[in-house]
Amino acid sequence: MSTPAPLSISMHPADNVAIIANDGGLPAGTLLPSGLVLVDKVPQAHKVALADIPEGGEVRRYNVVIGYALKPIPAGSWVHERLLQMPEARSLEGLPIATVKPPELLPLEGYTFEGYRNADGTVGTRNILAITTTVQCVAGVLDFAVSRIKAELLPRYPNVDDVVGLEHSYGCGVAIDAVGAEIPQRTLRNISHNPNFGGEVMVVSLGCEKLQPERLLPPGSFPIVDEREPELDVVCLQDEAHVGFMSMIDSIMERAKTHLERLNARRRETVPASALVVGVQCGGSDAFSGVTANPAVGFCTDLLVRAGATVMFSEVTEVRDGIDQLTARASTSEVAEAMIEEMAWYDAYLDKGKVDRSANTTPGNKKGGLSNIVEKAMGSIIKSGTAPITGVLSPGQRLSDRGIASGLVYAATPASDFICGTLQLAAGMNLHVFTTGRGTPYGLAQVPVIKVATRSDLARRWHDLMDVNAGRIADGEATIEEIGWEMFRLMLDVASGRKKTWAEQWKLHNALVLFNPAPVT
Ligand code: CA
Repeated sequence: MSTPAPLSISMHPADNVAIIANDGGLPAGTLLPSGLVLVDKVPQAHKVALADIPEGGEVRRYNVVIGYALKPIPAGSWVHERLLQMPEARSLEGLPIATVKPPELLPLEGYTFEGYRNADGTVGTRNILAITTTVQCVAGVLDFAVSRIKAELLPRYPNVDDVVGLEHSYGCGVAIDAVGAEIPQRTLRNISHNPNFGGEVMVVSLGCEKLQPERLLPPGSFPIVDEREPELDVVCLQDEAHVGFMSMIDSIMERAKTHLERLNARRRETVPASALVVGVQCGGSDAFSGVTANPAVGFCTDLLVRAGATVMFSEVTEVRDGIDQLTARASTSEVAEAMIEEMAWYDAYLDKGKVDRSANTTPGNKKGGLSNIVEKAMGSIIKSGTAPITGVLSPGQRLSDRGIASGLVYAATPASDFICGTLQLAAGMNLHVFTTGRGTPYGLAQVPVIKVATRSDLARRWHDLMDVNAGRIADGEATIEEIGWEMFRLMLDVASGRKKTWAEQWKLHNALVLFNPAPVT
């Protein structure tokens, strides 16, 4: 087997570092095609200095200063995080507001998928019975009931894809009226109305918890379907009618039947691609994330926006260092101000814990070549493509709360994979795209998750977990545009139920994790 040629990738002509693309990295003494000779061994995805950098000198990647040299760095050296002083976070004062003239994005017409139309105008990509819970206390009982529903009832309703218990750690032992407590409560409320659940809301409650069913889902919080009285359907475990555990299970199963029957009567219909609500995020990132997978997602984001769909990008700490790029891309000053408000809220939230956005990076990120949060953020923001940002959501809000019907939306969430996914579910996501360089088996029971590998090595080893291999971009085998189109077509197939993602096939489901910035008691 021949040894692959040394390959380095730089993101901008003004950059003075590039990353090494070869599997396993390259040894000291390697001659790069540019004529540069490596002074150190440089691991895969890590940076090499393209020129001599003096002490205190700027280290630029993505044409952004990702750090200042702590000592002189000769050309050809390995530039790792211990050599860099991280820049201060960009001030939220004096940012450019809606200054970028949006690129000409021609409408993309004629693309459709097969989805489930809902009474509220949203469209589901799956037909799932979701059973909401008011409190963690009922989780064990509901798990037991869900297992029996799946084994005994679901086979009789072939058009229903799954039954899912919406379990969480909230509901009691919490300061329910505290500032910030509205976030977990509206998150849970809005998840109950996710498009994939067909408007069928059913609740299992304990009885004595702080988060009473009427508080979680007050009258008027869910739409009238087919002139049916929008009555809150609750099974309360402490109800005196329940004698013994099995009577609780019988109650849950009996109520579930009504909802399963209605869900089973639904059929997929051809709907325009504009009905897609795609949440994008990354996790287990490496230096390839911003070179391969995230730019391809960004290209696909532009395709989706052109098709009239909604795309949400999130993860506050991973955009904080690029906030000037985002406020400049806002469609209006109101959108820019809303984004600044979310950043300021999060700065204060982190400050309470005496940390800042730099608390984001993980040992795996650094092993994967990402020196700090500035570098990570630049690679993360690319997922948002080039379209103007036309809407902003606060954590736990749904799109309709802010009157958003389509376009590129900044949904403010923590970067934590599970919390971000949970909040995007609440926003109304019906398809999830997740990029990873280090590798994560992440999946959700509520929506299909398309996972994109940033490196071919990961895609090869995790061949039955990764749905798309964007590493082919670094290998020179495919372009960003080709992978972006591949993703777009795969999304329509997955949304239609014609294809299942690997996480769906293996039933890999992470727990819902609510974002609760308020005190517990
Ligand atoms: Ca994440």
